[in-house]
Amino acid sequence: MSIVEFRSVTKRFGATTILDEVDLSIGKGEKVVLIGPSGSGKSTLLRCINALEEIDGGDLVVDGHSVKGGSKTVRLIRQEAGMVFQQFNLFPQMTALQNVAFGARRVRGTPRRQAEEEARELLAKVGLAERSGHYPGELSGGQQQRVAIARALAVRPKLMLFDEPTSALDPELRHEVLRVMQALADDGMTMVVVTHEMAFARKVGTRLIFMEGGKITVDGPPVALLDAPENPRLREFLQHVH
Ligand code: ADP
Ligand code: MG
Repeated sequence: MSIVEFRSVTKRFGATTILDEVDLSIGKGEKVVLIGPSGSGKSTLLRCINALEEIDGGDLVVDGHSVKGGSKTVRLIRQEAGMVFQQFNLFPQMTALQNVAFGARRVRGTPRRQAEEEARELLAKVGLAERSGHYPGELSGGQQQRVAIARALAVRPKLMLFDEPTSALDPELRHEVLRVMQALADDGMTMVVVTHEMAFARKVGTRLIFMEGGKITVDGPPVALLDAPENPRLREFLQHVH
């Protein structure tokens, strides 16, 4: 059963077509790694799943709900799809604990006490039990990104969308974020991850998708595609990521 279903989805910005009749079905538990040149539409594809962008053609169904279903449905979809951005986007004036508790309180209406208790558990899960009272400015980039992951999880999403979650981090801080993502994958979370981390794609990904010019041109098992890419543009792309 698919949890995300693109049916001939088109997205335009002005006269420019960004997603060009995309068909894509993602099943529960899949770990999809999405790659492609800059400007190929990866972020836009993720943002459409989360209904952060409106689509111009086709239909997109997330856990049975169409993104075209109106504001109530859109709110539901946003609860089901947690998103983590390249720039962590934490609230600077809130502690780690308050950042994580905030989403559950606002989106799910969880009482403060309970939201903070759950936030504590989630911070422990991402290895930050000792940092719950710290403000984002007092945390490293890797720690901030782990708080952002915990914050997304606090809403209890059914799938997680990651848009280059390690790209803003120094190399030595990336592995702590990737480790948290791997643990999430091991827990069975459905994930769509835009990343240049090909070791992660190989180890954690169950499916690799290559996008070019708003279209999906390659879709298959990561190890086979990385070891022997037949598509010449994928081969060329892979030579430049590392
Ligand atoms: P990627 O994440 O693969 O680099 P994006 O999905 O961010 O690609 O962008 C795809 C194309 O859409 C780019 O050419 C970008 O300039 C354009 N684009 C993205 N967001 C907007 C926007 N809000 N308004 C206009 N053009 C946009
Ligand atoms: Mg992008």
